[in-house]
Amino acid sequence: RAKHNGKNNYQFYDAHMNVHTIERLAFEAQLRRALDNREFLVYYQPKVCVTTGKILGAEALVRWNHPENGIILPAQFITLAEEAGLVGRMGMQVLDMVCRDIVHFKSMNSEFGRVAINLSGAQFNDDFLLDELQKVIDFWQVQPRDIEFEITESMVMNNHERAIQHMDGLNAAGYTLSIDDFGTGYSSLAYLKRFPVNSLKIDRSFIQDMPGDSNDTAIVLAIVAMAKTLGLKVVAEGVENATQLETLVSCQCDEYQGFYFSKAVPADAFVALLERSALH
Ligand code: C2E
Ligand code: MG
Ligand code: MG
Ligand code: MG
Repeated sequence: RAKHNGKNNYQFYDAHMNVHTIERLAFEAQLRRALDNREFLVYYQPKVCVTTGKILGAEALVRWNHPENGIILPAQFITLAEEAGLVGRMGMQVLDMVCRDIVHFKSMNSEFGRVAINLSGAQFNDDFLLDELQKVIDFWQVQPRDIEFEITESMVMNNHERAIQHMDGLNAAGYTLSIDDFGTGYSSLAYLKRFPVNSLKIDRSFIQDMPGDSNDTAIVLAIVAMAKTLGLKVVAEGVENATQLETLVSCQCDEYQGFYFSKAVPADAFVALLERSALH
């Protein structure tokens, strides 16, 4: 059809582009409104000790409580927020909510460790990040040791030296760092040695087919062995069943997260999980 009606087709394509642009701008406007109205929420997924089954901490995962569409997952809005230059503001709202909640979690359970927050590339590369963080933690009387930042391999790959500088800054300020989705990028081991990180989080894709897929099990074993050599803790993401957990126990993985224990839940539901965990 395009061959016979090239001109019309071209017009159609233009119109399509416009609709796309309009949708995008509308979505961006909604994101701005969401920031102004504080429509973002934080859910918490427990980080659990592989051997004791106790909750050691949590990962904070942002949710958009949209007035018409209800709870929206980050896959639907993070990339656009990044492209619109709004992810920094969103991240500061997340940090603010996490600091408010940490105070509560620690008062409920004295053994509670820290909350991990996902950093976006824009935040990680922002020279003012440390100052911004300081303002929020001072306000809530939270200590840097109560917070961990998850950084993906892809965020450090473009410019290793600069990334190490930023990591050193966060580390020197007392924050804990971890590498998220480990195994999906290809950060060289030579650099990994120089990263001031506390732990590696093995990507869900390697856990998914364990132990049936012997390659994945071998990869997990290799990651654990390498991490131990470097003095790093290993966290498995996306654990969905008992068999996967048993395999992780035998691999001597340290912690896990996943639907098998709990999905990410609102702060009050997380407190209930903490109370139950303290009874163990
Ligand atoms: P991530 O940091 O790798 O987080 C893990 C994702 O896996 C979460 O999805 C979590 O709900 C999901 N998950 C946990 N356990 C299981 C499981 O057993 N099975 C399955 N199928 N999935 C599981 P979520 O909450 O939709 O977040 C997706 C991604 O969005 C995160 O991946 C992270 O990269 C990003 N993200 C989330 N919150 C924030 C935030 O506050 N700031 C930034 N910059 N990014 C965020
Ligand atoms: Mg994460
Ligand atoms: Mg991850
Ligand atoms: Mg992931």
